[in-house]
Amino acid sequence: MKIRRIEIIGFKSFVDRTVLEFPDGVTAVVGPNGCGKSNVVDAIRWVMGEQSAKNLRGRAMEDIIFAGSENRRSLGMAEVSLVFSTEDGRVPAKYLDYSEIQVTRRLYRDGDSEYFLNKTPCRLLDINELFMDTGVGARAYSIIEQGRIGMILMAKPEERRFLIEEAAGVTKFKSRKQVALKKIESTRQNLLRIGDVVAEIK
Ligand code: ATP
Repeated sequence: MKIRRIEIIGFKSFVDRTVLEFPDGVTAVVGPNGCGKSNVVDAIRWVMGEQSAKNLRGRAMEDIIFAGSENRRSLGMAEVSLVFSTEDGRVPAKYLDYSEIQVTRRLYRDGDSEYFLNKTPCRLLDINELFMDTGVGARAYSIIEQGRIGMILMAKPEERRFLIEEAAGVTKFKSRKQVALKKIESTRQNLLRIGDVVAEIK
């Protein structure tokens, strides 16, 4: 999956609709201190499902909504759309027929939040599943910010293993295993309860 385009509205310093294109090759974002370069990376991470305001350099999630400036009033909503091309085929089978996938996240100041896949409302789970094992994703290795290389080198082996598993494509199976284990446990509890009922009837 390759990021092709990002559209940002009301996110941090991007008060007006801003579209950035990422053609093949390397794209560099340059600008003076405080002009919003890191906010672009925050927007990418946020739309991919980041749930921690701290990881987006804020205290609460509402901090990502444009807070107003000398000449502009604050906004009530932030929206980011990220468009990926699927040409490398590293997408779940159900998306192979699409040449592009658009992921959108919206947040209102009252805390309401919405996710969309190709403009259709979806759950965060659907977004997480889309990115699993692609190397893209809020916590995957596609975003290496200042200090992350050092963190990876200093990390405990178990923490580093998370990145290796994502690259090897086993994250999806681990996640499915967790779901299956939960189902097994709830079925075991149901069987115990049924056993009790049967014992009472006898
Ligand atoms: P540097 O080169 O110093 O790392 P940068 O270009 O990466 O800077 P950012 O950290 O992306 O800059 O942007 C910081 C700017 O974003 C600040 O001017 C800050 O006021 C503004 N900003 C952050 N959150 C909001 C918000 N919710 N509303 C309005 N502006 C915001």
